Amino acid sequence: MELIIGSHVSFKHKDQLVGSVAEALSYGANTFMFYTGAPQNTNRAEINEDLTKEAFSLMQKNNINPLNVIVHAPYIINLANNGINFDFAIKFLKEEIRRVEKLGMKYLVLHPGSHVGLGVDAGIKNIIEALNFVLTEDTNVVICLETMAGKGSEIGSTFNELKRIIDGVKFNDKLMVCMDTCHMHDAGYNVEDFDSLLEDFDKIIGIDKIACIHINDSKNVIGAHKDRHDNFGIGKIGFDNLIKIIYNERLDGVPKILETPYIGEVDDSKERLYPPYKFEIEMIRNKKFDPEVLKNIRKYYK
Ligand code: FE
Ligand code: FE
Ligand code: ZN
Repeated sequence: MELIIGSHVSFKHKDQLVGSVAEALSYGANTFMFYTGAPQNTNRAEINEDLTKEAFSLMQKNNINPLNVIVHAPYIINLANNGINFDFAIKFLKEEIRRVEKLGMKYLVLHPGSHVGLGVDAGIKNIIEALNFVLTEDTNVVICLETMAGKGSEIGSTFNELKRIIDGVKFNDKLMVCMDTCHMHDAGYNVEDFDSLLEDFDKIIGIDKIACIHINDSKNVIGAHKDRHDNFGIGKIGFDNLIKIIYNERLDGVPKILETPYIGEVDDSKERLYPPYKFEIEMIRNKKFDPEVLKNIRKYYK
């Protein structure tokens, strides 16, 4: 089985995708995920074609298949509520798709949205309306609806809600799903029995619709609806369960992306944040848990 593993990386103004690829390589990854700017806002720079070309040759040299690379839309755009920001969200998503196409990428992960008091049915109706506006016959990007934790009024915390969205969209050959292990666990799905979960997903949506999986541990118990990611093996899902998901044969070829938190350590009375991905990826490749590395991460960065 081919392990396609990477993490969230940054995409900075100065070197754009070149920096993202270099960061992924520094973690020993063979794929990665990035936002086209800050995840929490919608300020976006124009994509630089020379940098994109340079990034593609860097990927080729290092055996990173661009089809395994994932883009994540900013999480503040909300298609589920058709209030004052609805038109802006739709317009932004259209532009984001154009940026993803310009970057030569195919998969864009999107949080379905929060209905914020309108109710689930109205929320789903709004998402469908927005996606029907955004996805046209000649869209070359696949939008991957993410499974959500069900925090607040989030839509998409059940496979059935995602299925209803997919069914309502005309060009739904351009819609897939991004599973998130922390979110599914927090939504109440038992990720410890992943074969049954996949069976359930297959009956409702279809396993062939899984585009990628966010691999995160969770700080909370099953069904908590919290959405707080934990480092690999440290949280309530645990190392063995996450390893079983990553190496599940039915998910062969599906990119696995870590979105575990940076680890903070006090260094000369200043808090510094260390990305855990190099060490987590190493543990995943070796299938061997070493919590000491994550607890003393500063030492391993020297
Ligand atoms: Fe997400
Ligand atoms: Fe996620
Ligand atoms: Zn999350």
